[in-house]
Amino acid sequence: MASIFTKIISGEIPSYKVAENEDFIAFLDINPNAKGHTLVVPKKEENKIFDLSKQEYIELMEFSYRVAKAIEKTVPCKRVGMSVIGLEVTHVHVHLIPLNAMADIQFKEKVTVSKEEFLNLSEKIASNFE
Ligand code: 5GP
Repeated sequence: MASIFTKIISGEIPSYKVAENEDFIAFLDINPNAKGHTLVVPKKEENKIFDLSKQEYIELMEFSYRVAKAIEKTVPCKRVGMSVIGLEVTHVHVHLIPLNAMADIQFKEKVTVSKEEFLNLSEKIASNFE
């Protein structure tokens, strides 16, 4: 069965997209730790990050780097943190999270983001993506 992220990639499920190329997509996390929390996902559906080939892993990191730069330009924060978990959605993804405090990376406290804010954030991050 297709993962929820494969359904986002195919457009079956909507998302607030910030970047995309042939192999990767980045969109805002729907239940974010912080405003601007973004997921970077390989279009190839793989469960665990270290089951990617070394080349696929490097390309995922390179794409994530570019997305993180765009987040940094868009969202005021001390730094952008990176985390890989995958216990909820078993389709490889990198969490990129604007950090101001340790709590922002701990997946406990969530922030509420309106539809307008999601849209505004995704458009601004997308416009800063190089
Ligand atoms: P993990 O698998 O790394 O533990 O967490 C999965 C992440 O995906 C969570 O932060 C969750 O909020 C996010 N997520 C789950 N379903 C959706 C969805 O349908 N759309 C988006 N944009 N994010 C999702």
